[in-house]
Amino acid sequence: MFGKDLRLTDNYGLQRALEENEQILPLYVHDEFSPISNRFAMSWLLDSLNQLSMGIARSGSRLMIRSGNTTEILLDICLQFGLERVYVTEPTYALESQDFLKLKNALSRRSINLILIPDRILSLIDKGPQIRQFKQFHQAVSRKIKASPIFEINKLNFHGMANDFSWDHQDSTCLYSRVDLGMRWSPGWEGANSKMNLINKGDFVSHYLSDRDSLHESKGIRLSPYLVNGEISFNSIFSKVLGESNDDSEGENPFWRQVCWNLFAQHTYRHNPRLQTHSILPAIDQLPWSSHSEGLERWKQGLTGYPIVDAGMRELAQTGWIHNRVRMITASFLIKHLLVHWSEGADWFFNNLLDADVASNYFNWQYMAGSMREANPYFRIFNPVLQGKKFDTEGKYVKRWIPELQDYPIDLITFLQIYQEENNKELQLQEL
Ligand SMILES: Cc1cc2nc3c(=O)[nH]c(=O)nc-3n(C[C@H](O)[C@H](O)[C@H](O)COP(=O)(O)OP(=O)(O)OC[C@H]3O[C@@H](n4cnc5c(N)ncnc54)[C@H](O)[C@@H]3O)c2cc1C
Repeated sequence: MFGKDLRLTDNYGLQRALEENEQILPLYVHDEFSPISNRFAMSWLLDSLNQLSMGIARSGSRLMIRSGNTTEILLDICLQFGLERVYVTEPTYALESQDFLKLKNALSRRSINLILIPDRILSLIDKGPQIRQFKQFHQAVSRKIKASPIFEINKLNFHGMANDFSWDHQDSTCLYSRVDLGMRWSPGWEGANSKMNLINKGDFVSHYLSDRDSLHESKGIRLSPYLVNGEISFNSIFSKVLGESNDDSEGENPFWRQVCWNLFAQHTYRHNPRLQTHSILPAIDQLPWSSHSEGLERWKQGLTGYPIVDAGMRELAQTGWIHNRVRMITASFLIKHLLVHWSEGADWFFNNLLDADVASNYFNWQYMAGSMREANPYFRIFNPVLQGKKFDTEGKYVKRWIPELQDYPIDLITFLQIYQEENNKELQLQEL
């Protein structure tokens, strides 16, 4: 059963199922309680499933797609076709997690064995107690990882009896309105492999940090939605970036360092399963947060009056994407200027982001709120004016997303911001 491993490259669960069985029945189930329901993330998922399904068809098989209650669907299919084993890959389920054990028990009552194949890299992050500092985590993980050769699956022996099955391929597609994600995205495992070819190029790492900071849309790597859907494995990234020798055991490679933030978020989530709702530092929840909803609504709509914040929030609403820097600026603004509890902003992001991911999203919001004891203290505040000046020097980003500022020179935009701050006036951009 596919889940957060929508790929035919380096797919351990699929490989194991093929090794241990003469025929398999490839299945994807969109669970009725799946946390992902926003239109951008769903559109990505559907495009990705489409690509996976085409790859599986080329390999001589067919992908069955169902949506609903995973337990009922698995029981139904296994009993109908006499299947005794179901294979899933981490992190579709985390080993020992409640939902994995529940599903395993429900299937085993009907003599069906649910087999979880661990991800070689993700399984490392579970070991031992929680590491709270990124630096320590990054060094420990980078030292432990050993890259394995990447493999392709191009032949699937299809379960013959399933040929007569009537496919409800479309049921999940009908439930959601699709969004055109535009030319700059190419969802699916083959799109992910093309990204990896970029990473393989010699000058990628030397340009990575400066390109990453640019708000210009074509410069960043934009890999996160592929990782969220498992269209690429961490092992593939590690192998391509650092090679099988792992000669960079301190993990100094800047790109790998960023990817480790993703692993760190997942590590933190596994040790704090209530990450979505409870601050890791409980004192954060006790602060006198504002219950003034107007500020929150303006923030959501991109009408705060701070150009860089508004540009980011409008880009998010229209495309499901924002640059990491702008995510930090907008998050800091909501929490530390408007004094709104981080969970409000986190939920809004989660319901709009193309790369919505429980661990990464809620971890980063808590991080921005100062809820991690050892990092980014609560009194660190991003200045939206200085951040705009520094990272959007020519105002191109702001003008792209706030058309009403199109004809204003950048100095004037900056001046208006300062004016607004100094006079503490609730000036509306539309009135300028
Ligand atoms: C408030 C906030 C909310 C966020 N919500 C999400 C989310 O829902 N899903 C998500 O995948 N990322 C989230 N991030 C992290 C980060 O913004 C994105 O992963 C990044 O912007 C993706 O861009 P990129 O692929 O070009 O990555 P780069 O910045 O070039 O980094 C490469 C990869 O490293 C990982 N990475 C880099 N920085 C982080 C980070 N701070 N936390 C976790 N992983 C990181 C990502 O997998 C990324 O694809 C959030 C960050 C903030 C500040």
